[in-house]
Amino acid sequence: MAGSRGREHLINCSSCGRRLPRGKAVSYERRVVFSTDTRTADDVKYFDTHTEHYCPSCGKSKGIYEKKKRQAMRKYNTG
Ligand SMILES: [Zn+2]
Repeated sequence: MAGSRGREHLINCSSCGRRLPRGKAVSYERRVVFSTDTRTADDVKYFDTHTEHYCPSCGKSKGIYEKKKRQAMRKYNTG
């Protein structure tokens, strides 16, 4: 076998739906909260992280790069 890098996994941009290799996509980890919204003692809340992928142009127009930068800084500040 020649040293090919193989097929790259394709993802869909969360905004425009364009298909692009994952290596070129901008991934943004978003924290989502699930709640049963019952307002009782049984109210269940849990957090999950949801990773979204954007193509570079959507990443730029949606400010994903800025958000990522801010996230990284927050992580750095809180240790
Ligand atoms: Zn896009």
